[in-house]
Amino acid sequence: MLVKNCKIALSDNREVLRDILIEDGMIVKIEAQIPLTESGKAEVVDAGGKLVLPGVVDPHTHMRDPGLTHKEDFTTGSMAAAKGGVTTFLDMPNTLPPVITLDLLLDKKKKAVGRAWVDYGFYFGGAKSDNSAEIPKTRGLVAATKVFLNVSTGDMLVEDLDILERIFRNSELVAVHAEGEMVDRAIGLCEKTGVPLYLCHLSLASEVKSLEAAKAKGLPVYGEATPHHLFLTREDMEENEHTRQFLRMKPELKEKSDVEYLWRAVRSGVIDTIGTDHAPHTIEEKTSKLTSGVPGVEHSLELLLTAVGEGKITLPRLMQLLSEKPAEIFGLGGKGGLKEGKHGDLVIVDQTDRGPVEEDKIISKSGWTPYGKLKRGGRVLTTILRGRVVYDRGKFYGPYGVEIACGK
Ligand SMILES: [Zn+2]
Repeated sequence: MLVKNCKIALSDNREVLRDILIEDGMIVKIEAQIPLTESGKAEVVDAGGKLVLPGVVDPHTHMRDPGLTHKEDFTTGSMAAAKGGVTTFLDMPNTLPPVITLDLLLDKKKKAVGRAWVDYGFYFGGAKSDNSAEIPKTRGLVAATKVFLNVSTGDMLVEDLDILERIFRNSELVAVHAEGEMVDRAIGLCEKTGVPLYLCHLSLASEVKSLEAAKAKGLPVYGEATPHHLFLTREDMEENEHTRQFLRMKPELKEKSDVEYLWRAVRSGVIDTIGTDHAPHTIEEKTSKLTSGVPGVEHSLELLLTAVGEGKITLPRLMQLLSEKPAEIFGLGGKGGLKEGKHGDLVIVDQTDRGPVEEDKIISKSGWTPYGKLKRGGRVLTTILRGRVVYDRGKFYGPYGVEIACGK
């Protein structure tokens, strides 16, 4: 595939016009003018001078499959991802049954084959009942071990320090749901075991300060922020009965001062990645019972582009957060950037199309968005996966998604 007339942002923030040639799914050349003759019989896509970004790597999604497929499944979740410019997602293990044995992991993998519209990888789950002996068997098969230190359902909340330490020691990388003081506990385990740590969805200024201190010590600790913690506050949640139900999530939305601190850390590089924590529930569930979690893959890129438009963050920094760093941290070979030798995963964006985030036409089974009050900083026109169009102006092509190699 030859993608002509792409506006791309260089690391020094200059914007230039380039053609991108993709062969066998890989980017082989990025140059000012690549003649059509060089592309042989390749398909030609004209980006028309619009912004072209590397496909988004979303390191934090809950696709609800298997077991909770009335909320989302691999098909709908990955289509929502394609529409949002996400070309790779990592799926969390708290499905039904939870992914806490090698057999359950292999079973989940088998069920996903042929159903994803973009590429994907999996997490393995640490269990309260101590499944640390299973973890070495998952090496090379998962992106990381996920551990819940605060809240979770069933067997996935691990509080026993000895079990936690064994889980760390047997893992290549541990991702944690840790809030408040639990962030320090997780960092302590990283320091004790030397095993790299990924802190999911940091939201409090104090948590970000703990991350900063750990990094200053030279510890292999990484931090993630979510779009909802960057764009919404406790005030938004407390507005009325409806928002109290729909904006309920873990970690909860925070004060304005926390949000400002989080933005500063996102800009400075203290925060490494943005993950959506796509955690869909149906409208019926959100209104009839207490559920935590909001959907995100479909709108996160369009939403984050508003911050670029407002000068809150540069495009090169956004590309690091959304593509380069998650691919690097989780060892996703081939993913993470517009460079020769990387996968031909591209998103063509119309930056002039800046309406409100659309509450209709939602692909996710959840059928709603927490961002309905907010504006888009652009629109995803086309998503390209390894040199094939998978989404273009409302139409889907595929499914061509495959599981990608994870881990180091
Ligand atoms: Zn999550």
